Amino acid sequence: MGSKNYSVGVDLGATKIIAAVFDDKMKALSQCKAKTPSDKGGDAVAAAIVSLIQETCGEAELDGQALTSIGVAVPAPIDQATGIVINAPNMGLSNYPLGKKISAALGSVPVFLCNDVQAGLWGEVKLGALLDYQNAVGIFVGTGIGGGLLINGQLWRGSHGHAGEIGHMILEEGGPACGCGQYGCYEALASRTAMAKDAVMAASSGKSPIFASEAGGDFKKYKSSVFAKALEGKDESATRIVSRSAFWTGVAMANLVNAFDPEAIVLGGGIMPRFGEFYRKKALESMTEHLPPAFAKGVKVLLSELGDLAVPSGAALLAKSETEKEAGAGKQSVPAKSK
Ligand SMILES: [Zn+2]
Repeated sequence: MGSKNYSVGVDLGATKIIAAVFDDKMKALSQCKAKTPSDKGGDAVAAAIVSLIQETCGEAELDGQALTSIGVAVPAPIDQATGIVINAPNMGLSNYPLGKKISAALGSVPVFLCNDVQAGLWGEVKLGALLDYQNAVGIFVGTGIGGGLLINGQLWRGSHGHAGEIGHMILEEGGPACGCGQYGCYEALASRTAMAKDAVMAASSGKSPIFASEAGGDFKKYKSSVFAKALEGKDESATRIVSRSAFWTGVAMANLVNAFDPEAIVLGGGIMPRFGEFYRKKALESMTEHLPPAFAKGVKVLLSELGDLAVPSGAALLAKSETEKEAGAGKQSVPAKSK
């Protein structure tokens, strides 16, 4: 092992956790997945992350204590300075010191929390589809929809840390209700959750035999794989529902191009590996329809290249640079920034 620097990136989701170990060249040495014990509270979530990190290190034939840094990407507001998850109701976390808990269990390895979408975008910037770009937007479509902004080669986090909440841009005034309390948000129109609602209707109305046999009226069974199967089977309802999501993604993209004039937009998240080029083309068509021709022409629309590894690699990279910064600043203790 010598003097190599190993780091870990963790993608903490409400349903599953993915962890990967990277060497100093950011080559992934191993990758493991586990279910998130989201109904068992903070300590159970922290323990699940710790044991997944240990398992992943074991697969890479490393001792957990050989790590120089750990980055944990969280789908919720966080206080980066203190490693606290401020509020993640879907995992039962509220002002929970996740960073400290993980670090303590692994022999004080520095742990850095970051936003999951920003991590995913950073992974694509440093290792994937956005290698040559300075100004870009990342759109990640899954159960919800998140966005990230790259401006002059840097992540733009906003004045309060929540820049890129593009899922809650209102695209259809008075449209479907969103989990955030508003109506007609992009997320309420185009996320996999929105698609599943439509699919349940299609199955129960007898319009989609594939949906009816694969998932029927059970909302939770509508995973990306079910849509992909129906799409491959040329199921009309599936084609309509996936195209509709891509249509709204194109509208969102047009708004983002008007606001930020990026060089590129990268599409990622849970549904993209399944729908890939079909979705990208439909979204591009819709974006072009909603923009002046000169604006649309200048923007590359790309698919994520890192897939499941985008978030873990971005989290590991962000943690590495934070740890190096702190070491450079003379290892001062991090000031508490409680509010
Ligand atoms: Zn919303």
